[in-house]
Parts: sequence; C-alpha cells; structure tokens
Amino acid sequence: MLKDYEFWFVVGSQFLYGPEVLETVEARAEEMAKKLSDSQQIPCKVAYKVTVKTEAECTKVMKEANADDRCAGVITWCHTFSPSKMWIHGLGLLQKPWCHFATQYNRHIPNEEIDMDFMNLNQAAHGDREHGFIGARMRLARKIVAGYWEDAPVQKELGDWMRSAVGVAFSKELRLIRFGDNMRDVAVTEGDKVECEIRLGWQVDYWPVGHLVEVMDAVTEAEIDEKLAEYHARYDFATEDLDSVRYQAKEELAIRKIMEREGARGFINSFQDLYGMRQLPGLASQNIMADGMGYGAEGDWKVSGMTAIVKAMSEGLKGGSAFMEDYTYDLEPGKEISLGAHMLEVCPSVAAAKPRIEVHPLAIGDREPPARLVFEGAAGKGCVISLVDMGGRMRMIVQDIECIKPILPMPNLPVARVMWKPAPDLLTGVKCWILAGGAHHSVLTTQATPQMMEDWCEIMDIEFVHIAADTSFENLKQQLFWNDLAWKLK
Ligand code: MN
Repeated sequence: MLKDYEFWFVVGSQFLYGPEVLETVEARAEEMAKKLSDSQQIPCKVAYKVTVKTEAECTKVMKEANADDRCAGVITWCHTFSPSKMWIHGLGLLQKPWCHFATQYNRHIPNEEIDMDFMNLNQAAHGDREHGFIGARMRLARKIVAGYWEDAPVQKELGDWMRSAVGVAFSKELRLIRFGDNMRDVAVTEGDKVECEIRLGWQVDYWPVGHLVEVMDAVTEAEIDEKLAEYHARYDFATEDLDSVRYQAKEELAIRKIMEREGARGFINSFQDLYGMRQLPGLASQNIMADGMGYGAEGDWKVSGMTAIVKAMSEGLKGGSAFMEDYTYDLEPGKEISLGAHMLEVCPSVAAAKPRIEVHPLAIGDREPPARLVFEGAAGKGCVISLVDMGGRMRMIVQDIECIKPILPMPNLPVARVMWKPAPDLLTGVKCWILAGGAHHSVLTTQATPQMMEDWCEIMDIEFVHIAADTSFENLKQQLFWNDLAWKLK
C-alpha cells in the first residue's frame, strides 16, 4: 500500500544565479531524491520533479500534484533563494499535504575554500526563511522538518510525516461497512457521518445483517476448510469445539466477501444486532483485523476507521495496532495500571506470543459460545487514540502509554488482554482523558507515534489533544477551553 504512493520533491530557485548554478541545483536535487527513496527510514518513493524559477512552473507542478492519485504529498526545499510571491498561487491551489524540508546539500561550511560563489549556491538558510514566511503568511498547514538530509533521525522525521500523509490519502478513500447500527443508548460511538465524509473522506454505509447472513449461507465447506488451514498456520488450537471455529470461519469469509465487493477497509457490528446469526464474530473479526482491516464493536464506526488508518500508516513498522477498550484498573498506590480487553475482538497484531483459539460462552447477549483468540499483549511503548465527535467538529485524543507484561497470569479471563501504564500516571491520565471526552474504545498502537497522529490531524484540520508525560490536568483544562473558543471561530 505504502509503495503505491510517491512524494514529489519540488525545489525552489530563480534565474538570478545563472544556468550553471541551476544545473548544479537540479543534479543535487535528483541525487537527494534518489538517496532518500533508498533510505530505510523513508517508506515511499521521493520523486524529484522540478526546480521552479517562475510562478508558472510552480503553479503547474502543484496542479499536477493535485491531479495525480499516486502523489501523496509535496516536499519543498530552497537550495538557493526563491522569491516567495511566485509560490502564492501554486501553494494556494495545492490540495496535497505539504512538507517544507529545511536542509542543505552540504553538511559543513568549507572554511578554507568558502567564497561568494559557494554562498550563492548554498543558501538554504536564507532561501528557506523566505519560503517559510509565505507558508506562515498564507496560514497553510505544513510540516517543517529541519536537519541534514542524510541523517537517520531527520529521515525518520520526514518518513513518519510521509506515513501521516499516506494516512490522509487512505482516509480520503476509506469505505466502512456497518453491519447493524450502534449499540442502543450509547453516546460516544455516535457521530455525524456526513461531517466525517466532508472532513475525513470516509464513506460510512449500512448493510443489513440479513444480507450478511445470505452471503454466509452461500459459503462452501471447501472455503471453510481452507480458512481452517489458515487458522492452523497462524494460531494454536486450544479447543475441541471445531463446530464453533468453523462457524467463525463462515462469518469471516462472508464479511470479507462483502468488504471486498464494496472496497471497504473496515467494518462494524453489534452484539445487539445479530439477527439470523448463531455467534457474535470473535475469531472472525480478529483474523480480519490481522490483515490490516479496521473494526469497531457496538457499532463504533469511528474507531473502525481510525484502526484501518493507523494500520495503513504503520505498514512495515514493528509492533501492532488494535481495536481496544479500557476495561478495569489495578489501583495499588504508586503502581496503578489499566487492563484493556474486549468482549472478544482484540487484534492479534499486538500479541506477545502465538494466540490460542478458545471457545467460551459470552457473558452478555443470547448467542452460542464463540471461538476467539486469547493472548497477552506485548510490552513496549505505544499510545491509545480516540476520535470523538464534539458536535460541529471532530477531536482526536492521543495518550502515551507503556504496555507491560501482565504482572500475574489470568487463567480465568477468556479474552485477549493488554496491560498498560498511561501517561503521565494512571490517575492524572484518567482525569485528562475523561476531561477531553475520550471514548472507552480506542486504537492501541505500538507502531504509529503521537507525532504521526498530530500531523494527520493537522492535515485533516481537526483538533488534536495529546496526553503525555508533561501534561498537567490544569494546563489541559486551559488548553481545551481555548481550543473550544478557537474552533468555534474557525
Ligand atoms: Mn466495547
């Protein structure tokens, strides 16, 4: 998926310096684009396009960037000085994410040799300021990455932004399928689907559960046998109840068929809306998520969409990303932790070891005991992400967490579980999350970073709230108050 996209490298200059300088700039820009493309830190191709010297060239390349579906963003840089009035029209038209890369071709100042020819050719420090002003003056959302272009941390910062930008492209084409409606009476899983499509691009459509049951009825035994072979390859079987596992396979195959037919990358269902189905999909939903799809329980299409986007942005990164729910706390003073799980549907990408297929009764609802994957989450740094509808605008809340190995075994807990310490500490973190209106459902990721989510929100023009080690409840309260006023004015 990431490899389907490229980023256009557009370099600013002018005619003042003569053709030789411009040839050098062009050759260097091509070299830089090639080396960046080959870097481990950079997830997509960086394609050098043009060194712009006129308004016409700038406008042309930005229009082309808009029209090209492969182009997920534009990276600009000024090797020399590029007067910014010529950028106004082009940047004003640009509809793709923009990164201003403040770098220079040479790392060092050649103290002995330096003369005015060198200064005229290598004046990014000068050119990037003129270029920066016009972004600020036009109030354009842009990422600014500063540093030497061959340094790994600089490339990582650029690469992470590219992932956010691909998340934007993915979001704008995202289709979600709702098998059923939201859980009765629940508020936070609701939201304005039209606003979401205008703002984030998601098409969130309903398909009746009866249609899913029809497609399930058409699934063949041979297809189920093949799916069972996949389960055997991926998971350990800790159940004799193969009938339940086969029923989950049938559900999975039918859900996938409809998703594929509709071009959907995420879905929802609800335990209250399983008309004609014998089991709530558990293993079925988990195995679909394992392949990069989004999912939300109780009709939570916002978390389904965010799970799909986070997974798309994180392709190839170590760790996992899963639909998650805060469940219960351990409140030992000074060692407080949170235990997250769900009725069934936690994605196995966050598992510490090979998940087991088990069959147990459901504590709620009125259906047969479903097969599900049971595992403990892997330890490591991560974050939880919640998208809520504030009425008139969307807000994303991201909280830093440290996933830990569960302190003691939980042999009677028949579901996948992850244990974590939220930032800045559990009690402050819970207060902050509640103050900001974060949902009980979230995307838990040990792949995407809060910075990547912030960049995604900035490009999407939605509110971003980060709860981190240095967050205080008082400051957050102030921030939310000002945000509320600012977003009403926007
Ligand atoms: Mn739930």
